[in-house]
Amino acid sequence: MNKISRPLAIILILIAATMHGCATTPLPQNRNTDYDVIVIGAGMGGLSAATHLSSGGMKVLLLEQHYKVGGCTTSFSRGEFNFDAALHEMSLGGGKEKALVQTIMERAGVFEKVELIRVKEQCKSVFPGFEFVQPEGEEAFFNALKKRWPDEADNLNRYRDLLIVLSDEISELRNLYLANPLEALLTKITLPLRQRTLFKYHNKTVQEVMDDFFESEDLKAVISQFWLYHGPPPSEQWSIIFLIAQYSYLLHGGWQIKGSSQALSDAYNARIKELGGTVLTDTRVTSINVTDGRVTGVDTEHGDTYTSRYVVSNADPFQTFLGLVGEKEFSGRFLRKLKKIEPSNSFAGVYLGLDVTPDFWGISEYEIFLNKSVDHQANYEAAMAGSYENGLMSLTFYTNLGDPFYAPKGKSVLTLHTYSNMSLWPEPGEEYTRQKEEMMDTLITMAEEIMPGLRDHIEVKEGMTPRTVKNFTFNQDGTPYGLNFTVEQQNRINIHTPIGGLFMAGSWTWPSHSVGMAQVSGFLAANIILNKEDGQEN
Ligand SMILES: Cc1cc2nc3c(=O)[nH]c(=O)nc-3n(C[C@H](O)[C@H](O)[C@H](O)COP(=O)(O)OP(=O)(O)OC[C@H]3O[C@@H](n4cnc5c(N)ncnc54)[C@H](O)[C@@H]3O)c2cc1C
Repeated sequence: MNKISRPLAIILILIAATMHGCATTPLPQNRNTDYDVIVIGAGMGGLSAATHLSSGGMKVLLLEQHYKVGGCTTSFSRGEFNFDAALHEMSLGGGKEKALVQTIMERAGVFEKVELIRVKEQCKSVFPGFEFVQPEGEEAFFNALKKRWPDEADNLNRYRDLLIVLSDEISELRNLYLANPLEALLTKITLPLRQRTLFKYHNKTVQEVMDDFFESEDLKAVISQFWLYHGPPPSEQWSIIFLIAQYSYLLHGGWQIKGSSQALSDAYNARIKELGGTVLTDTRVTSINVTDGRVTGVDTEHGDTYTSRYVVSNADPFQTFLGLVGEKEFSGRFLRKLKKIEPSNSFAGVYLGLDVTPDFWGISEYEIFLNKSVDHQANYEAAMAGSYENGLMSLTFYTNLGDPFYAPKGKSVLTLHTYSNMSLWPEPGEEYTRQKEEMMDTLITMAEEIMPGLRDHIEVKEGMTPRTVKNFTFNQDGTPYGLNFTVEQQNRINIHTPIGGLFMAGSWTWPSHSVGMAQVSGFLAANIILNKEDGQEN
């Protein structure tokens, strides 16, 4: 087993509770199974877990219900245009040292199979009456803010120090993962003394941090703009996840993958096969089989049963525990906790193929955020109530990456996304189609504020709603983010489960949602299993 290196430390605060204090399960005895490990679901979490397990010498079967791998990280074509279904930009994660996700991709052997494209600037934020381009890189970002808000230069310096100290403190917690239980306990007990900043902020929302540091509401709105990469609005969002992610974007940049996020999913798929693993698409798992509290394998929709010593589920926890395993295997306490979980929001949007490139409107940016107010809470509430025109929207100009994958020369693709709430969307039918058309029309009208006449240049139009995400991932409420990242829900779903040999990977579990962090979760799940096999954890 490779030792876990320092860049991985960023996640340790988040996984500490997972690693220690959870019930340990005996090593499985029966080695006479079809596979060592079955992975359910080929989203980023499942693909990553299957790859690291295969690379650790395990015999792996990955089962995916869709006809292709990727989950959210997939692409589709319409006419001459190709669209990334989800990924706007990927954070490579991690603190001051080498980027965490990059390290994990390298270990998986997929880093050399993909070409990453660095996003030029973080984004342009448009608010009523003003706009601000967030340059990429820590220095440039803070200099631009100080130039615009000179009176808040000291506050900005203090905020920057907070990001640095927090990142350092989290790095110091890495021994929570590797340490023996006594060392881990000591670290936890001394946390309030040694990780003072983390302790101070661990129960604060993003908004509380903004209010602690800054005077100007406009500045607060700009700095917290990336709240929408994590789900709940600043007034509800857990500050730690926001601050860590912001610092890592500033240090390591935002990235797309040449050929879209599907290229990353395909690279994982190819790597699993190279390592001797088996990947079956079009194969939905219908049951996780359990005997005497331990997994024994899975059944599929085709009537096949595969046996294994371990199962890693990239499916959401509701399906995994209630649907695939079954309530009878769990304690009442576990089920009550599970049923209280609040999933994050989902998306609605429209994918557009245009007969012109963005410079027709003088747009060179990759991503623009349109905010109807500097009050992010108000924008969020409007979107979630279906009043999209009073909310927020991201405009992603994929063609501005310079990757010819998306559109023929002289044409372009543009994605408009807003937040949405599954409960607003009826079952597919006439009313659903009407609402979807209306939503697409509203978003296009909003985009016309900065792209006059946009609708005259649309060659291809495809809508998506929370139901679309649900269809392709089976995630509860169509959320791609897992648990709503509020202060109250800072503990994610455990990678360990009460069922022996069953582990979780993906956005619902540690360390967090997102394309980058889902890969980290798969790596963690794989490491736990490989450590068990090595007898390091039992
Ligand atoms: C519109 C949109 C924009 C986004 N933008 C970004 C962004 O810019 N940056 C970023 O980092 N993240 C972004 N995300 C979020 C990111 O894509 C997700 O958090 C992440 O990819 C989820 O990975 P996951 O491992 O949780 O798996 P998921 O993508 O949720 O996939 C789960 C997989 O399991 C399969 N499955 C489920 N049940 C079964 C079963 N019973 N049998 C077999 N297979 C099953 C599903 O088919 C699916 O393939 C975005 C998401 C969306 C939808």
